[in-house]
Amino acid sequence: MLRYRVPDFERLTLRQKQYAYCLSQAALAGRDILWDQNCRYNLPIRRMLEAVYVGYEGNRECEEFRQFEVYLKRVWFSNGIHHHYGCEKFHPGFSEAFLREALQSVGYPADEDLLKVIFDVSVLPKRVNQAESEDLLLTSACNYYAPGITQVEAEQFYAEKKKADGPHPVMHGMNSRLERDEKGTLVERVWKSDGMYGKAIRNIVGWLRKAREFAENEEQCKVIDKLVDFYESGDLAMFDQYTIAWVGQTEGDIDFTNGFTEVYGDPLGLKASWEGYVNIKDQKATQRCEKLSQNAQWFEDHSPTSPQFKKKECRGVSAKVVEAVMLGGDLYPSSAIGINLPNSNWVRQEHGSKSVTIGNLTEAYAQAARGSGFREEFVFDDETRTLMDKYEDALDDLHTDLHECLGHGSGQLLPGTDPDALKAYGSTIEEARADLFALYYLPDERLVSLGLTPDGEAYKSQYYGYLMNGLLTQMVRIEPGNQIEEAHMRNRALIARWLLAHAPEAMRLVRRQEKTYLQILDYPVLRMHVGQLLAEIQRIKSEGDYEAARDLVETYAISIDPRLHEEILARYRQLNLAPYKGFINPRYRVVRDAQGQVTDIKVEYGEAYADQMLRYSRENEKNGD
Ligand code: ZN
Repeated sequence: MLRYRVPDFERLTLRQKQYAYCLSQAALAGRDILWDQNCRYNLPIRRMLEAVYVGYEGNRECEEFRQFEVYLKRVWFSNGIHHHYGCEKFHPGFSEAFLREALQSVGYPADEDLLKVIFDVSVLPKRVNQAESEDLLLTSACNYYAPGITQVEAEQFYAEKKKADGPHPVMHGMNSRLERDEKGTLVERVWKSDGMYGKAIRNIVGWLRKAREFAENEEQCKVIDKLVDFYESGDLAMFDQYTIAWVGQTEGDIDFTNGFTEVYGDPLGLKASWEGYVNIKDQKATQRCEKLSQNAQWFEDHSPTSPQFKKKECRGVSAKVVEAVMLGGDLYPSSAIGINLPNSNWVRQEHGSKSVTIGNLTEAYAQAARGSGFREEFVFDDETRTLMDKYEDALDDLHTDLHECLGHGSGQLLPGTDPDALKAYGSTIEEARADLFALYYLPDERLVSLGLTPDGEAYKSQYYGYLMNGLLTQMVRIEPGNQIEEAHMRNRALIARWLLAHAPEAMRLVRRQEKTYLQILDYPVLRMHVGQLLAEIQRIKSEGDYEAARDLVETYAISIDPRLHEEILARYRQLNLAPYKGFINPRYRVVRDAQGQVTDIKVEYGEAYADQMLRYSRENEKNGD
């Protein structure tokens, strides 16, 4: 478990702190909705396990209790009894006899159904089953459909609804459980203030209304009003209205999402799990980005691309790095480090989307990676390692800024070029363009003179880390036998392998005691080649040269050498790094004066994992269903 810091919270005005605080409470208030969505036994099992955890007075050092604790911590981590990512049910390492005895000792009734769900491996083995040949609803433990409803029935039910769709369809089924009424007809039980999960939703709405009093601007009020309307009516058209208002709301330091969002938990991909989070603008990143943006034209003019592909008037893009203030629901404790919403296709097309990187979470990950033995294992020599330890984190942020604030916004299409000309290769080429723009400028004197890099050596750490990742270590995230799929990963492989092929005098892979390493021999020459590839990628983009895009991506970005893959996986495994990490939230304390007036809100970081989980359970039991 990691902790993330929220340094910019201190800089907020009291009013802003109150706004962020109320939104944070709203982000926590839907936790038990998610638990129930994941499986209908999750909440009663959690109550039972927590009663034992809190009250057990037997030997808490014995192996059985230790295994019990491991199990409960995994259940907390996954918001239920199934793995949050793999979806398989956890197998307890303690005996049923132990649990029965422990329940008796704390005076908690032993529910036979719950014990069966925990201990019988054949009961509800998978939260979301994706095996094609089986009925996905009957074989999935998630709670979006009442037991006994078949896949065919549900698919027909929603196909019928979609028949009436116009150009702006709502996301059918997103906020309801499909059930059978007493006549056996399928009906939706909608999640809303006076419907299913009503008590928790009314609590969320209460906090949203309080937040509204402290909003920074009218747009934020509008977003809250529409979201409250949606929670009260359950009307999916209103949900779309809320997301449109949210996409348009870009002023202010504080932003949030709250609601039924991601559909990975439903084998049919219709029903959305509840999540909430609150963020504030990362001030340092914003300042770095402003500096870059003020100089955007200089960067554009000096880039190695051909003049006809350069933008004549270049403005930077605003910072997209934020700090998480609170994570809730399906974003807690395991969280995405970037958010890109809304999900509705037509809303994205007609109104755009918001995409952010959550800087304080990536920073917490980076900190955890230090001292893990990762660099000792994969970096070529001590000299490079020292360089990376000294510079890499600072330059990681700068790389992101150059990529986001300048890279994506640079260059122009030739008149008449179809923006979608590169089709399926488009996103890899676009990410490569932005990364190459960043890599090209990291060594530039201009960044030293702007105070964005400490000296002319610092970029080397970023070059090494980036290329090592692209050639070797990013493979640890891919299963044996698979290829590279994701656009950012493809882009890194493309750049690193292209450079390896075109700049053998500047970099090479070396084998030492059965292990493969990257050795960089000449950084300035490498930069020159980065500039060449940037110019070529910009040409491909500007001209819409599909053939060239396909050649580059197919040659460098997709396939994996299985022997190298196996070697990297084995070296990574022996580091014994936890494959998944989660976050403990900070705690916000309201400070009042003698008259009861709020004078400040303080951030605290000390709360232990189990204490936080137990506190959230207590608070949600009180205000939930
Ligand atoms: Zn990008």
